[in-house]
Amino acid sequence: MPAMLLDGKKTASEIRAEVASEVEQWKKQGGKTPKLAAVLVGDDPASQVYVRNKERACAQVGMASELFRLPVATSTEALLELLEQLNNDPYVHGILVQLPLPYGLDTQRILDAVAPNKDVDAFAPENVGLLVQGRPRFLPCTPHGVVQILARYGIVLEGKHVVVLGRSDIVGKPLANMLVQKDIGLGPQYANASVTICHSKSQNLAAITRTADVLVAAVGKPGLVSADMVRPGAVVIDVGINRVGEKLVGDVDFDEVSSVAGHLTPVPGGVGPLTIAMLLRNTLLACQIQALVD
Ligand code: NDP
Repeated sequence: MPAMLLDGKKTASEIRAEVASEVEQWKKQGGKTPKLAAVLVGDDPASQVYVRNKERACAQVGMASELFRLPVATSTEALLELLEQLNNDPYVHGILVQLPLPYGLDTQRILDAVAPNKDVDAFAPENVGLLVQGRPRFLPCTPHGVVQILARYGIVLEGKHVVVLGRSDIVGKPLANMLVQKDIGLGPQYANASVTICHSKSQNLAAITRTADVLVAAVGKPGLVSADMVRPGAVVIDVGINRVGEKLVGDVDFDEVSSVAGHLTPVPGGVGPLTIAMLLRNTLLACQIQALVD
């Protein structure tokens, strides 16, 4: 039997509708309109599309957004100055620096400069530390999207073996940090996993991945996960987004793996749409957190 597809588009639109209704409620109670500031440096076409989608998504749920578009030659210092202004702007609640930044900019220093209360990507060291300690302020958007799609399809993680391919600070590591917690706010059944993280130096990858109840691929290599790497009936989440010619594909060989896996996310239409939905959720949360300290 072919794998059941986990529909990220549908799940994301449910979450967006929930956020829209919470924003409406929040504003009715006198709360400020949540606002996201997006910073885009240079003219990378993919980044432009991502930022445009994020702005459109904000408008659809009743939030404000503003795009700060800077030339490719912008210096780290100039960017830090802009971030300082945004950190101090009481009408900006979430700040997003679109990655990747052009070569030559000090990405780490720039991300570290976003005020932790406005760090809706959850990249700031303080927010990473809080997540590791099991008391997150913001859940990182793509990993949160992965857990949301599993939870909304009722796929229990408690006691399961999850293998995460990739150890980046954006996807692999924060996802692993979320899955090993006792509860990240979705109930203990959607946490409490036993987690293995693999990376480019991992050996005997297929032997490890075949032990996974849930296999998450976040590598950036089309077709990396083949059918022989998947235990029959396992849940496979494909975070990868790779452009092959005109087509977008994930890290999973979709045709092969769909005949082995029990559940599978497609690319496009899987985890991608959830990332933006979780960004919206974090922007509302940021606005609510800041209202407490205003
Ligand atoms: P990075 O390039 O930062 O990290 C890739 C990771 O994969 C690294 O840890 C690397 O190991 C590991 N890796 C490389 N080759 C192998 C291999 N053969 N076997 C096992 N692990 C390997 O990528 P990101 O985490 O930023 O993104 C991963 C993918 O997810 C990309 O396709 C990206 O486009 C996509 N993505 C999708 C999002 C969405 O919204 N759906 C959001 C963010 C990313 P090492 O550390 O040793 O180098």
